[in-house]
Amino acid sequence: MILVMFGPPGAGKGTQAQLIQKVLGLVQLSTGDMLRAAKNAGTAIGLKAKEAMESGQLVTDEIVVGIIADRISEDDCKNGFILDGFPRTVAQAEALDKMLTEKGLKLSHVIEMEVDDVVIVERVSGRFTCASCNEGYHDSFKPTKVEGTCDECGGTEFIRRPDDNAETVSSRLKAYHEQTAPLLPYYKEQGVLRTVDGMASIDEVSRQINEVLTV
Ligand code: ADP
Ligand code: ADP
Ligand code: ZN
Repeated sequence: MILVMFGPPGAGKGTQAQLIQKVLGLVQLSTGDMLRAAKNAGTAIGLKAKEAMESGQLVTDEIVVGIIADRISEDDCKNGFILDGFPRTVAQAEALDKMLTEKGLKLSHVIEMEVDDVVIVERVSGRFTCASCNEGYHDSFKPTKVEGTCDECGGTEFIRRPDDNAETVSSRLKAYHEQTAPLLPYYKEQGVLRTVDGMASIDEVSRQINEVLTV
């Protein structure tokens, strides 16, 4: 199964991808995580991506398409994967279709999480992740069970993203509406678009996604 998690920043793509990964064993491929790792490691790709990421703009199609092309050719993607944060432009979607066709593969579902812009700032401003295992949390909506300790791995260090501030979020939202939302009719036409209520609780969104996946 090949899934695309689709929605604005903070919609819950990563949260739901992590849940699907745990249940179905599909690997989660987050271009945001990969770009952040490249940036922190100071690689050539990281240096090229840095400025766009820090200002809430999209990184070039060439860079992200290259990263995904390499990643989906690895062994652990053989049984399927979940794309989280890719594609984000029509050109990326076309490049993805081409890569999949060449491998004799095809998208199973594009899961759109619909969330109002007003909720987005609240979502991203409370977001933090475990520094050891990358499990995602939220100050109000998904706190750790024991304060200061990761539920999954027991880690005690957490990370907050520098781009999760109100100003950068508004640029990211603008990029979503202008460059990413135009993919919705593209996928609707292909018959793979499945929309869930991203405003609902994490458990309810997960229930709606499971319904899509078992049809
Ligand atoms: P995305 O990957 O789409 O940017 P995340 O999965 O990182 O979004 O979610 C953004 C923040 O909102 C995280 O802190 C997460 O714990 C929280 N969150 C995710 N889904 C929901 C939900 N349905 N209701 C409330 N908070 C949520
Ligand atoms: P969010 O979880 O809030 O949707 P991501 O972690 O997916 O954010 O992405 C963080 C940043 O990385 C984006 O603002 C953008 O600069 C860059 N990025 C991630 N994925 C892509 C992509 N597919 N195309 C272009 N830029 C991307
Ligand atoms: Zn952890």
